[in-house]
Amino acid sequence: MMKVPFNDLGLHHKLLQPELNQAIAEILEQSAFIRGREVDLFEKEFAAAVSAPFCVSCANGTDALYIAMKSLGLNNGDEVIVPSHSWISTSETVTQAGGKVVFCDTREDNHTIDADQISDLITNRTVGIIPVHLFGHPADMAKIMQIARQHGLWVIEDCAQAHLAKIDDQFVGTFGDVGTFSFYPGKNLGAIGDAGALVTANEKLAMFAASFARHGGLVKGDHQIEGINSRLDGIQAAVLNIKLPRLAAYTSQRQDAACRYRDLLHGIPQINLPSVGKGSEHVWHLYVLRAQRRDELCDFLADNNIATVINYRTCLPLLPAYARLKHSPSDFPVAARAQDEIVSIPIYPEIKFEQQQYVASKIREFYSK
Ligand SMILES: *Cc1c(COP(=O)(O)O)cnc(C)c1O
Repeated sequence: MMKVPFNDLGLHHKLLQPELNQAIAEILEQSAFIRGREVDLFEKEFAAAVSAPFCVSCANGTDALYIAMKSLGLNNGDEVIVPSHSWISTSETVTQAGGKVVFCDTREDNHTIDADQISDLITNRTVGIIPVHLFGHPADMAKIMQIARQHGLWVIEDCAQAHLAKIDDQFVGTFGDVGTFSFYPGKNLGAIGDAGALVTANEKLAMFAASFARHGGLVKGDHQIEGINSRLDGIQAAVLNIKLPRLAAYTSQRQDAACRYRDLLHGIPQINLPSVGKGSEHVWHLYVLRAQRRDELCDFLADNNIATVINYRTCLPLLPAYARLKHSPSDFPVAARAQDEIVSIPIYPEIKFEQQQYVASKIREFYSK
């Protein structure tokens, strides 16, 4: 029987094995474990890759959000508007930084924040908005930036799932004040451990963020402020430097795979395929269907050696972590309904056409029973 994993990092790294081995051996030889040449190079190259003036690396994508908020001067009790559908990093870091999380419902068509509902959530305590380019599809940055300017709010784009995604030919991460990225192994650009970065056009903010992430001082022992320890290590940077020049090709492979799914899954009335907004370039971190009898479908696919994931099973405001906010599903009707219908099917650069054919045929078979 054919087997379709959700992602194939084993195969992905096997194809890079000689280069990875050599890069890691060099780091060992130089003992360049924390920061060093590879880290400096990666910051420079990643900034260039997304056309951002500055890149500050850190330990992971969650820290990137936290560092961004501290760098933007978030004060205790400040309110930050975040989408109700995301990975918890987007909201937990608001609380961690001393802010108050305000959830906004999502769009029916692509699960990103519903910009039309943001204005109603703004109070005199609101300081910022964190749109998430969820699954690799850009949020509506034109509308979000217009609202932000009108109300004097900052914007952090959570680009953890959207490396190289674009709107009208402009890279995500460059619309707001800061763009944050994760290089968690399964992300579109992944290290072999945790890694993250933020990008910005604001030099002062970049300097503050770099210093804050390194105990509040860029020169050892010279602490201008209290900071945290959130550094990119040499091995991760060396691995990222090997993969970054291939990121555009990996992205095209994902886009080709998404095109193939569109054809292969055409005309099944019980599922809705993901859509791409006008002017948006989707980078397909995840291929998310909306499916009738979703859980039964997942079980059937699992029985046929096809892995699926629910991203995510509970929308953020309804998680136990936010019980204090006393939200009910009717507060976020779109996100609350999506959580029961979404299913992510395998997509990754190395997925084979035959594997996609197999996935599609099994989905078709499930609904024809
Ligand atoms: C992965 C992810 C993060 C956090 O990244 P880590 O590197 O795992 O800390 C933040 N936001 C979103 C939307 C993510 O998918």
